[in-house]
Amino acid sequence: MKIITSAEDMQKTVLALKRAGKRIGLVPTMGFLHEGHLSLVKLARQQADVVVLSIFVNPTQFGPNEDFSRYPRNFERDRTLCEAAGVDIVFTPTPEAMYPAGYSVYVEENALSKGLCGASRPGHFRGVLTVVAKLFNLTLPDVVVFGQKDAQQARLIQQMARDLNFSITIVLAPIIREADGLAMSSRNTYLSPAERREALGLQQALKTARRLYREGERDARRIIAAMQAGIEQIPSARVDYIAVVDLDMLQPVPQLNTPVLVALAVYIGKTRLIDNLTLPDDSLSNLPE
Ligand code: AMP
Repeated sequence: MKIITSAEDMQKTVLALKRAGKRIGLVPTMGFLHEGHLSLVKLARQQADVVVLSIFVNPTQFGPNEDFSRYPRNFERDRTLCEAAGVDIVFTPTPEAMYPAGYSVYVEENALSKGLCGASRPGHFRGVLTVVAKLFNLTLPDVVVFGQKDAQQARLIQQMARDLNFSITIVLAPIIREADGLAMSSRNTYLSPAERREALGLQQALKTARRLYREGERDARRIIAAMQAGIEQIPSARVDYIAVVDLDMLQPVPQLNTPVLVALAVYIGKTRLIDNLTLPDDSLSNLPE
């Protein structure tokens, strides 16, 4: 397994591989890897000859009061996990390599990025799309794998690929969960034991939505109200948003008569967690019964 830290080396290496006819698969991450990330590697392996996993805690996607400096990092652990998962190249650029002095070009999306996480994290998706566009240019992937865990992000990447003509196949990977159903996240390490138990409230709220839907409820307001009522029972929880949106434009819908995304962001103590469910086909959510 190769470890590359320079942007120039990355581009040179991948250009040589492509000239040799290799298909490149990219898995972009912020590191502190867990089984969710490794499931993306597995999908990339199935579709590419060479798998590049990038680890970059991207400063431009964090707000001034967010957790950039304390985001968990453990390169040695990540390296071991990557090796075992069959990653071929780990790309770990420094912030200075990605954003040299005088950096001034950003990718902005003006519709899908406005709601959900974009509403509470202004500038977040501008940072995400910018870094992903740069990673695309640096690793020249044929296929890239993103997790449904970050459903809005995945939808935005598809939109960017279409609108900026990136000729890249985008694969969406199902949400990987802990044994008790909590969606895996590097940020779960922030949770105290009590908060870890209370974090189950997110998936319980999604289960409430699914149960009501299966019972025939189609009114988005009633489903959101039931989810909210459940979260309010949790001492350390504070709802950021609970939304039912269409899968294309991610706009709130009043009725669940067409396929929808049920998404929520909840603070458990100081930790902001997200989770989601698609209906009626909930296969990407992996939500336990
Ligand atoms: P992150 O390191 O949090 O930026 O995530 C890197 C990639 O892994 C993104 O495409 C995420 O959607 C994906 N991912 C994160 N958590 C999970 C999970 N629990 N299951 C599946 N994919 C995930």
